[in-house]
Amino acid sequence: MVKNINGDIYSDLITSSRSELYGTNGSRELSSVRYIVIHGTASTNINNVFTSWSVADNNYATGRQASANYVVNDSQIVGCVGENASAWHCGGTGAITNQNSIGIEHVNSYIGNLNDASTYLFSEATINNGARLTAEICKRLGIVPSASTIVPHKAVYATACPQSLDMNDYIKRVQNYYNGNSNSSSTSTASKIIEKIGGKTNMILFQEGSKVFLWVGNQYTHIGDISELDSIKTMMAKAGYDTWIHTDAKQIKYIKKLATEAK
Ligand SMILES: [Zn+2]
Repeated sequence: MVKNINGDIYSDLITSSRSELYGTNGSRELSSVRYIVIHGTASTNINNVFTSWSVADNNYATGRQASANYVVNDSQIVGCVGENASAWHCGGTGAITNQNSIGIEHVNSYIGNLNDASTYLFSEATINNGARLTAEICKRLGIVPSASTIVPHKAVYATACPQSLDMNDYIKRVQNYYNGNSNSSSTSTASKIIEKIGGKTNMILFQEGSKVFLWVGNQYTHIGDISELDSIKTMMAKAGYDTWIHTDAKQIKYIKKLATEAK
């Protein structure tokens, strides 16, 4: 099933449409779509994504040459460019192009270090929304979900996009939805806790045994013991940062996957 919004064709999973913001790269037959390209927005705020795409050249009428067919976050699936038109999303010049793919942008739940793509994280809810949408598109358009049909942006263009998103895990979730399992059984440890820290400037600490570590970008450092936690927090507050401490073993394991210890 699809939603037709003024001639723009979207999955019926969309929660809203912002077609008015975007120009398109030309119309196409839905049957020409053979790939789904997965993106990360490099922003934690869905509204910033809309404005950065549409206002950059102050041309609301046609939009600028950056868009996607869908944007998802924790609670929304937003149609931006109908599937029956190609969006400016991947820049691919090989087998996978704007013309034969659908681009889905995923809003980040947290960005640890602007210069380090591995700290651009995604919440479980956002990943599941994207995977559910991808599965619905695959079913409807006759695309068999696999690593050759669902590809990260970086596979078709020189970019770090979609940052830390684990594609093997993502494709597994798509296949679960595609096969009718509503409970996506994922191996990812992308953490719920990370959602809570949202767009604020936080310093991330974690505790192992009696040791407290500071995580910044792709490194973590032992900065004191648990008895010193209050003074560490006070020091951070004076420097203008909120602090968040992880104590859950699963989340710490995830941080350690993203970072290495600085000695
Ligand atoms: Zn991208």
